[in-house]
Amino acid sequence: MHKQVNVQALVLYSRPLGEGDRLLTLYTRELGKISAVAPGARKMKSKLAAAVELFSRGQFLLYRGRSMYTVTQAAQEGQHQAIRQELKLYACGLYLAELVTKAVEENEANPAIFELLLESWQHLETGKTKPALLARFFELKLLDLLGYRPHLDGCAGCGKCRGAIYWSDKSGGILCADCGPGDADAFSLSRGTCALAQYLLKAKPGRLASLRVEVEQHKELKRLVQSFYQYWTDIGSIKSAAFLEEIT
Ligand SMILES: [Zn+2]
Repeated sequence: MHKQVNVQALVLYSRPLGEGDRLLTLYTRELGKISAVAPGARKMKSKLAAAVELFSRGQFLLYRGRSMYTVTQAAQEGQHQAIRQELKLYACGLYLAELVTKAVEENEANPAIFELLLESWQHLETGKTKPALLARFFELKLLDLLGYRPHLDGCAGCGKCRGAIYWSDKSGGILCADCGPGDADAFSLSRGTCALAQYLLKAKPGRLASLRVEVEQHKELKRLVQSFYQYWTDIGSIKSAAFLEEIT
């Protein structure tokens, strides 16, 4: 196994460690989520300093140790300055980072998740879409990439979809008026919210800016997606979710 590895990385987490180091959680295109130490990154003249800040994107040269990586070189390629400066954007950027950190295993590469996070941060940076809507978009897309795409095209029980519809975590998506009442945990869902979820699952971030969403629909979608995460994944509670909620 090569000891040196070159990766493209997004900084999900960065905190001071010891005298002048930083401890990082990186999401890399090549290796997935990893932990790394950036030695001396807090020293005045460190060449690593800019590249290892939260929300940075860069090219990293890493040394593979027994339990952790060490950053030997890093060149920043993007810093997402607006996300750092504006509280609403910051809260959302942090939430996306924490969601990825909690939802993925270490050392499992998934370039599509790398792309999703990068393009979401880049879009957030423009300030064109409400952070809360971008968060819902990201949650749905991430579910899909983790292998838990909600079933929204027709009833998950019988395939048909007439009349009222229901949502069921256990069935993995929507149920029809015949199947829904038989599922003790299913709750009724508005068609508008279902259509919104379908749209977000297929959309690119650039399309979100012009999307108008009613408050009730947004609330319903949020509740549904959160409940789906709790049922299907081990993410537990996301600290920055409350912060995002408060700010937006
Ligand atoms: Zn059905």
